[in-house]
Amino acid sequence: MDPKELHSVLPHNALQEMKLAFEHQDFVAAAENIKRSLVSLDDIPLNVAVTGESGSGKSTFINVLRGLGDEEEGAAKTGVVETTVVATPYFHPRHRNVVYWDLPGIETASFKPSEYLELVKFHQFDFFFIIGSERFRNCHIELAQAINAMGKKFYFVRTKIDADLNASRRLNPRNYNEEQILTQIRENCIKGLFAGGILCPRVFLLSSFELEKYDFCLMQTTLERELPSHKRHVFLLSLPNIYTQALKMKSEAFKNQIWKHALASAAKAALPIPGLLPGSDIDYLVKVMKEYKGAFGMDQTSLAHLAQTFDKDISELRSVVRSQLTLQEITWELVESLLKRRELTAAALMVTQYAAGTVPMLGSVAAGGVAFGTAFWLLYSFLTDVAEDAGRVLSKVLENTCQY
Ligand code: GDP
Ligand code: MG
Repeated sequence: MDPKELHSVLPHNALQEMKLAFEHQDFVAAAENIKRSLVSLDDIPLNVAVTGESGSGKSTFINVLRGLGDEEEGAAKTGVVETTVVATPYFHPRHRNVVYWDLPGIETASFKPSEYLELVKFHQFDFFFIIGSERFRNCHIELAQAINAMGKKFYFVRTKIDADLNASRRLNPRNYNEEQILTQIRENCIKGLFAGGILCPRVFLLSSFELEKYDFCLMQTTLERELPSHKRHVFLLSLPNIYTQALKMKSEAFKNQIWKHALASAAKAALPIPGLLPGSDIDYLVKVMKEYKGAFGMDQTSLAHLAQTFDKDISELRSVVRSQLTLQEITWELVESLLKRRELTAAALMVTQYAAGTVPMLGSVAAGGVAFGTAFWLLYSFLTDVAEDAGRVLSKVLENTCQY
C-alpha cells in the first residue's frame, strides 16, 4: 500500500471521531462503547409506507425493494384483489429493521385521505411511496395533500413504464420517441401534483420488471439525500444491488464504519485473557465480513437469484469475479489464516502508526493498536474487493441492457 493512500483510507474526520471516542476513557471502554453504537445503528428502524390504487403495482414494488421475485417465499402476493383494510408489513430479508408496509388500495369512491391515513397509523412511517400507474388521478393529489398536511414526506412513483412504452411503440412505431414519452408522463404527474399545491413534487418513473432502467437510481440517490442522517445508513444497506451507483453508495457507507468495527474487534487484544494470545476478535470479523458479502449480493443465494432474474448462467457471473475471497465461505479458520499473512501485517502497521499520529492511545496500547490496524486493513481490503467484484458482476448481468 502506498502511504499516501492512507489519507483516503482513514480520512481526517474518522480520525477526529476516533480521538473523541478515546477521550477520558481507556482503550477497552472506548472500543466497547463503539461496539454498542454500531449495534444500535443496525437497530434503527426504517418504516416505509407503500400506498396507491389496487393493481397499481404496490406489492410488486415492495418485492423488488426487498430483492425478492414475486414467486419467492415471503414475497408479497401480487396480482390479487386487495381485501385488507390494514397495512401489511414486509421485512427486508437481510435488514429486519427495514419494513415496507403494503397499504390498502385508495380507489374506493368513499376514499377519505385523512381517515385512511389515521386507519393505517400514518405516524409510524418514515415516508410514503405513492404508487400510480396509467393515469394520474385526483385520489393521488388528495392523498399527497393529506400526507403533506400530516407533516410526512412522500415520493410519487409512476410504475409500469415498460407497458406505456410498449403500447406507444405498437401504436406508433414510426414516430416512437422514448425520451419524449417519458417526459410527457413525468410532466403530467408533476403538473398534477403542483396543481394540488405540492410545490416540489418528487416523481420517479420506473418499471418493477426492469428496475435497472428509468428513474430507480435517481430515486435511491434522492432518498439518500433527503433521509435524516441516522436513517441513511440502514437505508443504504438495504438497497438492491442493481446500480453501480447503489454499489458505490453502499461501499462508502460501509467504509465509514470500518474503523469502528476494527476498534470493536480489537478490544479483546487490549485486554489479554491469560492463556490466550492477544489478537483480534475473529468471530466478530467473520460476522462483519459475512455482512459485506451479503450486502453486495456475493453469497451463493444472492448470486443465484441475480442470475435467474437476468436470465444468466451463474457460472458466467462467477467467471468475472477476480478476488478469490469474494466467493469463498467466510469461516473462523479462513479469517485466522488471513490475519497471519505477511502483507497484511505490513499494511496493518502502517495503518496503526498513521492513526496513532492523531489518536496516541493506539500507539500506547501496543497489542490493541496492532489488532486495530490488522482488523482495519483486513476489512478494508476485503470490502474493496467484494465491492469491485459486485461491480463486475453487475456489468455482466447488464451487458445487453442500456441503463439510464
Ligand atoms: P397492487 O394491487 O398495487 O399490489 O399491484 P400488484 O403488485 O399486485 O400488481 C398488479 C399487476 O401489475 C400484476 O399483474 C403485476 O405483475 C403488474 N405490475 C406491477 N408492476 C409492474 C410494472 O412495473 N410493469 C408491468 N408491466 N406490470 C407491472
Ligand atoms: Mg397488492
